[in-house]
Order: sequence, then C-alpha cells, then structure tokens
Amino acid sequence: MITVTRTSMPPLAEYVAYLERIWPTAYLTNNGPLCCELASQLKDCLGVGNLELVANGTLALQLAIKALEVRGEVITTPYSYVATTNAILWESCDPVFVDVDPQTLCIDPALIESAITARTSAILATHVYGYPCDVDAIQNIADRHGLRVIYDAAHAFGVKLNGRSLLAHGDCSTLSFHSTKLFHCGEGGAVIARTPALSQRVFLMTMFGHCGEERYVEIGINAKMSELHAAMGLSVLPRVDDFIARRRHCSGRYDALLEGLPLHRPKVVAGLDYNYAYYPVLFEDHATMMRVRRALLDHDIMPRRYFFPSLNTLPFLREALRRPCPVSEDAASRVLALPLSAELEDAEVDSVVGCLREALAW
Ligand SMILES: *Cc1c(COP(=O)(O)O)cnc(C)c1O
Repeated sequence: MITVTRTSMPPLAEYVAYLERIWPTAYLTNNGPLCCELASQLKDCLGVGNLELVANGTLALQLAIKALEVRGEVITTPYSYVATTNAILWESCDPVFVDVDPQTLCIDPALIESAITARTSAILATHVYGYPCDVDAIQNIADRHGLRVIYDAAHAFGVKLNGRSLLAHGDCSTLSFHSTKLFHCGEGGAVIARTPALSQRVFLMTMFGHCGEERYVEIGINAKMSELHAAMGLSVLPRVDDFIARRRHCSGRYDALLEGLPLHRPKVVAGLDYNYAYYPVLFEDHATMMRVRRALLDHDIMPRRYFFPSLNTLPFLREALRRPCPVSEDAASRVLALPLSAELEDAEVDSVVGCLREALAW
C-alpha cells in the first residue's frame, strides 16, 4: 500500500538514548531539559528568535489567538485544514472567509480589504502546502487597519523566502509537529512570536498562567509538550535535512514523469526555498479527479483530497458565515495530494504516475 504520507521514524536506539536521560530524573513534563534542548535546536535550525513548544498545532493556533487578544471577526482562508477554522470558532471568534489566489491557493490579498469591518481584529492565513502567502501585501493591509496577523505555518517547517525564515512574518506563526508532518514529535507544535513579550505570554498560557509557586497571572490552559514528545523531536530533528532532500528528489521525479499531462500545480513564487511538504495536483474537473482517485485506490494507492471541503462550506457553520469562495471551492473539488514522504521509493513514484496516466488515458 502507498499512503499519502508515511511517518519517518528515527532509529529506536536514539530515542531510547533520550529516554535513558529521562528515567533517572523521572522528569516527564513541565518544560524539562529535553523540551528546553529541543526549543533551542529548533530556534537555531529555523532561524527564529522566539519559539514556544506546545502539545499540538491546534493549541498553537488557539494560544496565538488568545495571547494576541483577537476577538470579533477574523479574516481567514477557506483553503486549509479544518483546524484553522476550528481554532477561530473555538475561541468564540467569527471566521470571515476570503477567497484564495487561483495561482498560489493562499488567501488573495486583493480581496481582504473589502471584508474588513469594525469588528475585524485579525487575519489568520495558511501558508498552504508550505507555499508562502503574500506576506508583504498582508502586512501592509494589517498595518493600515490595525489588525493582528497570524500564520498557520503547519506546512511551512524550514521554508525560507528571500533567504529569511517564512516564520518570521506576522505577529505569530504556528507549527504542527503531528506525526504526518515533515518534522514531527508524534504530537506537538510551536508558536513563533515576533516579540519576546508575546512569546513569554504564550509560554505562561501553556502552563495555566501559573508562574512560580504562588503567582496566578492570567487565564491559561495546559498546552505543555511532554519530555517524551521532546525526546521524539530530538531524535527526528537531525534527519530533517535528509527528509527534505529525499522529498525534493521524489517531487522532481513526479515533475519529470507528469510533464505534459493535463493537470496543474500551484505556482511557486520567486525567492522560495521550499520544504517539499506536499505534492498537490489539480485535475481539469471534479469528475477527472474522482476517476483518477478511484484508479489509484484500486491499486492500493491512497492519495488524499487535501484540501476538501473548502472550509467556507463546513456543515456546522452558521448560515451568516458561509460566504461563497468560488476559487477555493473549485480547487477543493479537483485537487489530490499525491503520496510524498521521505520513505517513498522511486518505484512507488513510478507506479503512482503509471496508474494516473492510465486513468487519464494519456
Ligand atoms: C496539521 C495541521 C493543523 C493541526 O495541527 P495538529 O498538530 O494536528 O493539531 C493545523 N493547520 C494545518 C494547516 C495543518 O495541516
């Protein structure tokens, strides 16, 4: 079976070596030495100054919203994973969906301003598949209207734009270290904040807002990463460059083998140092995509309709929140993420493409 992604496991001995450091101390959580070590390695590797580890990427979004005191309406993308919208709703804010750019599938900055109202307090956009949003245009709008900017950067681990970490943009960026992501801790995530003060606030909020022995500073939650998850992260992190290289190789192989077929790929902007997190392809229409998907499934190949549904059509949204987003809805109706991981073999890329060609009768 070829699945859309496979979790890359570190050598067991390396994970065990970290566990052996934990055992004598019985220090399993509460920002222990392994979490501190992981946070420091991640800051170096990602080139960011302020980073707080958290239990998962969804809590990272919720904490960013809380720590920035975002309320009312949040302008957001309909083309992302459901966690992006859920985090907004969970924090009692209203998502205002603004359609995406048909080339990049990231939020279209040209449509943001007309969606701003007196209740708007933030823009929460996703660097979808690790492709950057138009960060300069978004910041410019945010500055003119006094809005906060949060990036869901769950796909953007290690991505650079013009030589600088993509995570350095906005007031906050959030990462997910779920086992399906490029870099993982099993479960985990991080908040990258523009200022040390904001980072400190997020940190405090991850531990009940409880500081020192008897200081209860503000409302917090438990969003701490455990030492066991940090141990996984520390064993995986040294391999990330190899993962990216292998993914780059497989993506290049797909590029070469799919050349000339009737399908589209999102546009890559200039100055991008990409992480090869996903390999999305857009077919000509919904029926073609479904035909290809069926053919792949029949050969035990599991692509994923990533992203589907377009989030503005989620069934549990209040009627007033369901604005049409034709570009996103169209993309969601005909996109497939093809299998891609550091574990994918050349022969597997070849069988995915062989099967896809056959379904397209090309
Ligand atoms: C994976 C993902 C999340 C959620 O992260 P978890 O760590 O699973 O909570 C949020 N947003 C996007 C875009 C994701 O892909």
